[in-house]
Amino acid sequence: MKVSIIEEACIGCGACVALCDAVFRLNDDAGKAEVIPGVDCNEAGCCKEATDSCPTAAIVIEE
Ligand code: SF4
Repeated sequence: MKVSIIEEACIGCGACVALCDAVFRLNDDAGKAEVIPGVDCNEAGCCKEATDSCPTAAIVIEE
């Protein structure tokens, strides 16, 4: 399962990081979240929850 963030849609609220810091991190320079490279969304177990909690639907999970 692959996860990505639509950069233009992200407002940098940090909700995904708070819920799932194994997969997401904030890029302070950009003020937006990013997916940590090489992380498996399935193994982390919190990807879906974080995706559902994003206020701007900026996180996309590709099955
Ligand atoms: S929850 Fe959504 S809007 Fe907030 S930082 Fe994460 S991707 Fe960006």
